[in-house]
Amino acid sequence: MEIVGLPTDYDNYIWVIRSKADAKLAWVVDPGESHRVIPYFQEHNLTLAGILLTHHHYDHTDGIVDILATLGNAPVISNQRGPFKLVSQHVEAGEVISIADHDFEILATPGHTHEHIAFYHPEALFCGDVLFTAGCGKAWHQSAKPMAESLIKLRNLDENCWVYCGHEYTYGNINFAAIAEPNNPDILARQAEVKRKTQQGIPCVPERLSIEKKTNPFLRFDQTELKQTLLNQNKIFENFKADDNGNLYASLRAWKDSLDQTGCLEAGLND
Ligand SMILES: [Zn+2]
Repeated sequence: MEIVGLPTDYDNYIWVIRSKADAKLAWVVDPGESHRVIPYFQEHNLTLAGILLTHHHYDHTDGIVDILATLGNAPVISNQRGPFKLVSQHVEAGEVISIADHDFEILATPGHTHEHIAFYHPEALFCGDVLFTAGCGKAWHQSAKPMAESLIKLRNLDENCWVYCGHEYTYGNINFAAIAEPNNPDILARQAEVKRKTQQGIPCVPERLSIEKKTNPFLRFDQTELKQTLLNQNKIFENFKADDNGNLYASLRAWKDSLDQTGCLEAGLND
């Protein structure tokens, strides 16, 4: 399969999965807009085989009505438990579906939203807004535990897999990673690379899961050094349990959120 990332008006990515066996067939992942997807299909004379949807948020779904109306009807494949009404092919965790002649497993990844799913093949993971390159999504209105468990589930996948997430947030994320784990040489090396790419306008998504495991703090909150940092920060809280991944995730997330508000993680691009 060939995977193409279409830019959007926001920092989202819309992924197009093209079949090598049948060069006219293509799938779209999380189309929050239609105005680049439709011309892409028309210019390449592609047939829409299906739309993969990780979760219901508007910046992943707003293009769907226009795309179906213009490119012809095709299944909208997702978990039926979300509020988005146009899902026409319901899939459940553990189910395997064929996309571009490759078997993709459906993974339940609740946390960002309750119905969030990921589409997994050992070469490519479409993980929406749960795992980001060098970071992770927010647990909107959800408790921390499912998000922590979803992140650990993704960490255990084939580490050669490429992570195709829903947004380009790598620069701010890796800057936070360098604050959370200042002694991690892999993070410092990646920070320099991400800065160079971002300055040059080169996408930092996708990235290998093996790199994420070494440098993404949200896949590392239970590792000795980061865990100790979080424990030290939270020792004033009587109920903080260092052996509770939900606590560790929530503490790390709150730390990043507080820095996000200052704007410091996005600074330094012009240095
Ligand atoms: Zn979202």
